[in-house]
Amino acid sequence: MIELKNIDVEFGQGSQRFQAVKNADLTIQKGEIFGIVGPSGAGKSTLVRVINMLQQPTRGQVLIDGQDITKLNRKELRKVRLNMGMIFQHFNLISGSTIAENVAFSLYANKYPKDKIPERVKELLDLVHLPEKADAYPANLSGGQKQRVAIARALANHPEILLCDEATSALDVENTEEIVELLKEINQKTKITIVFITHEMEVAKKLFDRIAFMEQGEIKEVSDIYTAFTEPREPIAKSLVERVLNVSVPEALKVGNDEELLRLSYTGDDSYDPVISMASKNYDITMDIISGKVDYIHDKPFGVLIVMLRGEESERKKALVYIEKNVYKMEKLGGK
Ligand code: ADP
Repeated sequence: MIELKNIDVEFGQGSQRFQAVKNADLTIQKGEIFGIVGPSGAGKSTLVRVINMLQQPTRGQVLIDGQDITKLNRKELRKVRLNMGMIFQHFNLISGSTIAENVAFSLYANKYPKDKIPERVKELLDLVHLPEKADAYPANLSGGQKQRVAIARALANHPEILLCDEATSALDVENTEEIVELLKEINQKTKITIVFITHEMEVAKKLFDRIAFMEQGEIKEVSDIYTAFTEPREPIAKSLVERVLNVSVPEALKVGNDEELLRLSYTGDDSYDPVISMASKNYDITMDIISGKVDYIHDKPFGVLIVMLRGEESERKKALVYIEKNVYKMEKLGGK
């Protein structure tokens, strides 16, 4: 388990002082895929680097399985770090070495028994589905394949934690998908804890079990991924989620006197279809669908629909009560 307690990170001094992380509290459970999202400069990278003490916090505690690693000497810290692999946006492979040598490098560096190295390298390349590339050089690999080698290298010494800093940000959609699937598979197979930071909400949606939203150095919201997408609370969470769901209201749309613009969301447990037809049948109103989208978060459907409700006020009111009761969430976007 990873626990960050009241973490502050300050850079610079005096009037130049800048607080990159402010009073961050976070608990990440063993075996989960935990993600941190937020705009560039939010402090995500700094916070993740605190987990393996690449960045010393100005204040606060970092507990790994209950042990405060901010108090350790270099030797002790080295041992703790062996338990954490890390991958980055850029793959940092050694261009003059083969793929097998790149992976073996971190085994040599950490005094892995020499005679067991070839076997471990093979195991790792199998794990990332690249056995046939053992003798190839990095230049001959796609971005996704390079990142897979970086993953193999990061996992060489059987760490229990994998830290990923924008690990898909340099990749195209296809390669991103490939890395997301691979990380999920490795997480399930090995129960490794994954901490993943990204500004890409599509990746968050597909990969994370839980998510933290960060902005201006602060953790604003933490929730499971489905709740984050269906019920974002803080403005930063709302705006990032909204961008993925991409259900917009046409700018030219005007809401008249006898109209109301609604945003309805529904989950796998209900469906908007009967709600709309029943509302139109039971009350003297009409409902037009302006836009809508169904999305899947970990195979569970979630839909958003923008509708225009028309009718006299008294009928509209009754219809609204009915609709609100029968959808997951109803929000008024415009009208009286
Ligand atoms: P993110 O990962 O969310 O993009 P970072 O953690 O990289 O954000 O950076 C947060 C803020 O801290 C940024 O304003 C950045 O310029 C600043 N920062 C990061 N590292 C340093 C450093 N070593 N010295 C001074 N400022 C830094």
